[in-house]
Amino acid sequence: MANIGYIQVVRHCNHFCGFCSNPTTPYQHTFESMKVLVDDFVERGYFGVILTGGEPSLHPELPRIARYARDRGLHVRMITNGWRLADDAFAKEMADAGLSLVHVSVYSVRPDVEERLRGTPGTLEKAFAAVENANRHGIDVNINCVINKLNADHLDENIRHWMTHHPYIRHFVWNNLDPSMGRAEVNQDQYTPRLADFELSLHRALKMLHGSGRTFRVEKVPLCYMTDFAWASTETRKIVKGEERIVHFLDAKQTVRQTDWEHIYNESCAVCSLRTICGGLFDRGNAYDPAELYPVFIDRDAVVEKIIRDPKDPSYEFRSLDDWRTDFERRIAEARAAGPRKPHGDRPDQPPPSMSPGNGPAVGQITEQGLRLFEAKRQSEGRKAAQHGIALERTDDALPPPTNDPDA
Ligand code: SF4
Repeated sequence: MANIGYIQVVRHCNHFCGFCSNPTTPYQHTFESMKVLVDDFVERGYFGVILTGGEPSLHPELPRIARYARDRGLHVRMITNGWRLADDAFAKEMADAGLSLVHVSVYSVRPDVEERLRGTPGTLEKAFAAVENANRHGIDVNINCVINKLNADHLDENIRHWMTHHPYIRHFVWNNLDPSMGRAEVNQDQYTPRLADFELSLHRALKMLHGSGRTFRVEKVPLCYMTDFAWASTETRKIVKGEERIVHFLDAKQTVRQTDWEHIYNESCAVCSLRTICGGLFDRGNAYDPAELYPVFIDRDAVVEKIIRDPKDPSYEFRSLDDWRTDFERRIAEARAAGPRKPHGDRPDQPPPSMSPGNGPAVGQITEQGLRLFEAKRQSEGRKAAQHGIALERTDDALPPPTNDPDA
């Protein structure tokens, strides 16, 4: 299986998105603490690693850890806002270090909307420069986009822009807003879209890309809102192929290993033909309305076949529908035998205990220096939040005491 792991290398950022689900924490990584996590992915036989954040390019040792991961055989990727890659020398340094693929996140090609969503002026020009630089230095470029209330009506306009002005970009990823964590949790009303808000523009965008031969993935969107392209759902692909995902969060959650891709359903989902391969409604924050879900009656196995026979995804083991069914039924029986999933209590931002491996390596550490930087950042972000009329994320988790201080 083509498992790909995530390492949050920092948790601070030079932008200030009102729906950031992974905002600043006092945890910090050294090269050594990241190296342990890379080694763990190698031992698990993972295909690649995604360096993410916060804004990962702000870690001074990012090129070094990218090079180390590449030398250990991992496909190295990064999710970035593109601000630093707009510097051609940095883009070249990352290419030389082994960065193979960069996901540049852009929410809207309308400058006023992008500025409002980023809480920072001038980010769009930087993102455009970043994709040009990365492409020039041989790094594959994907565009990531968080679907939210402000861009829901023009996802297709974004795609038209990319296809016209940056035709070398061949793959696009959408994430519907996760309203359960960080600033997204406390600003749900401002940013969480209704599913119906983006249904049409998403469909137009996917149709345009598909017609042009480009590829895409869509995460956290129930299949009834992307029926024609159900095979492109990240959750559905993982359910069909039995894949897992490990995320090393640089916060109190630490490591989360996700093998269960099912979320929330409503009663009518019981009669839906796609129920067994649909991730449902991703909502641990009670921000979406399950009444928006509606059953569909299309051929499930046609969706499955598109996934297991995808020539651009050569890692999957079972290529015939019969073999897939046998494997899928075995996995369902194992999940039933393991019993129902545990609820995650009154903290929707915390994953259920069943998703944590528990005995993994420590993910970063809190130092005296990290705490000082965190407090300073918190103050400056408090001022930005007031200026933009948004709330600052909760930090009511009990922080563990500092573990050491390399600068002391
Ligand atoms: S009705 Fe339910 S199971 Fe069917 S596609 Fe929608 S969310 Fe998925």
